[in-house]
Amino acid sequence: MDHMLNRRTFLGSAGIAIISLATPGWLRASATARWQHYPFTLGVASGSPTSDGFVLWTRIAPDPLCADPRTPGGIDGSNLPLNFEISSDEQMRKIIRHGRIETEARYAHSVHLQIRGLDAGRPYWYRFLSGEASSPIGRAMTLPSSATATTQLRLGAVSCAHYEQGYFSAYRHLADETPDLVLYLGDYIYEYIDRVSDDLVRHHSDGVEATDLRTYRNRYAQYRLDADLQRLHATAPALMTWDDHEVANDYGNLLNASFGEHPVFTDPKIFKLRRNAAYQAFYEHMPLRPDQAPRAGGMRIYGRHVVGNLAQILVADTRQYRSAAACYGPPDGTGGRLVTATYCPALLGSSRSMLGSAQEAWLHKQLSSQDQRWSVLAQSVLMAQLLRRNAADEPLFWTDDWNGYPASRQRLLKHLHQHGQMNTVVLGGDAHAFFANDLKLDFNDSAAPVVATEFVGTSVTSKPGNFNTSQLLQQNPHIHFFDNSVRGYLSLDIRPSLLTARYQAISDPRDPLAGVRTLQKFCVEPGHPGIQAA
Ligand code: FE
Ligand code: CA
Repeated sequence: MDHMLNRRTFLGSAGIAIISLATPGWLRASATARWQHYPFTLGVASGSPTSDGFVLWTRIAPDPLCADPRTPGGIDGSNLPLNFEISSDEQMRKIIRHGRIETEARYAHSVHLQIRGLDAGRPYWYRFLSGEASSPIGRAMTLPSSATATTQLRLGAVSCAHYEQGYFSAYRHLADETPDLVLYLGDYIYEYIDRVSDDLVRHHSDGVEATDLRTYRNRYAQYRLDADLQRLHATAPALMTWDDHEVANDYGNLLNASFGEHPVFTDPKIFKLRRNAAYQAFYEHMPLRPDQAPRAGGMRIYGRHVVGNLAQILVADTRQYRSAAACYGPPDGTGGRLVTATYCPALLGSSRSMLGSAQEAWLHKQLSSQDQRWSVLAQSVLMAQLLRRNAADEPLFWTDDWNGYPASRQRLLKHLHQHGQMNTVVLGGDAHAFFANDLKLDFNDSAAPVVATEFVGTSVTSKPGNFNTSQLLQQNPHIHFFDNSVRGYLSLDIRPSLLTARYQAISDPRDPLAGVRTLQKFCVEPGHPGIQAA
């Protein structure tokens, strides 16, 4: 039996004392070592592309749902050596780069390999090798250099994939489109167990809400075992942001409450430990740059990605730095709820921010004098005003999305207007519904200018909330389209002269082999912000 076997498997089959195996270096692999269990169960991923490279990801996990926190993935011991290969062809015949690296034991034996020095604007293929085991082959790509005239970019956007509530057919159909990049807009995992629905198609295997490193790791690992999600990651590079369920429902910054009739508010010091664990597990499972590893309990995931002279993609983080939700606190002030401004005047407070002051300043700076035709703002929650009315006909606002931070939204939209930014497209998730919205300088003035365009993808699987569609459209004339009856994804085709958004709906989230159809198409012309029929 080879020394490279993981301890758990080894003990299970041979029953040898731990002490002899725990000797430092027992995992040192020879080039021909054999794994008893396949180590690349979680697949591969690429992300954070630049004009000369990208990040390659994998995680060694022969026992991916191993519950022992000392042996995540069924591996213990020190960093594990791995080989990688990058090829200019799909069959991995023309290897243009190869080398030896080590997994990071402290990050559950994941790899975040930063590659530089490649040619701009083209695909590459890659794989990892360990002993006789080879990972699946993944496709990565470099972005065109900023000086290049770029004629087309195809983006997918996905959000809200509750594993228990459906199969990931949306991921499979998006992979079939082979987009240039996939934007993950949040709720990639769900931390909680659905104990309400009676039509779940499968279950979170550990049966508990994720609250610590072990349970968050297991949640990510279980999602990554899904063949459709694995294929999407292997097919197209990822740009990642998160929403609340990567940590806890409707959390904001360090504030979190349980929901229900009598919410329980968590001490921020305690919640910080939970958030640290969730952020670390996110890092361990995503193709993020090594410099994005969690530091002092925070993780910088916001950033700018330039695609030739065609587009800048601005990935924003709406969770980590936000101000407290309006009227947050006992007895009933949890993250997401509907309030009137009469009940909660703090909602309109001018100093409250969705992004935090540093990120807000950064974002405004990126949206000032860039050389790219389009700006795509990839973030997690609905930006357009969404008015609902209570029985007394007073407007109600949802406190968890941009409707809970109207001054912050106004600063951004005013900035776009003042800086002549005519070509900003905002992408969002969280709503479990498709929206197509005009973002206006003043949502309550029919004559106010439209300053940007918003496309909101529905969920990959997650169940929708209750809305009266005709009332919603009637009370919000800047919302051109709304449909919460279907699950799916967004597909964007970006060209210098036109940006087109396809709203893709799968036939049934409960069918693992669901089909797909185009539900709607909208477009935006440069210089004319706002939704147009395509
Ligand atoms: Fe969601
Ligand atoms: Ca959410």
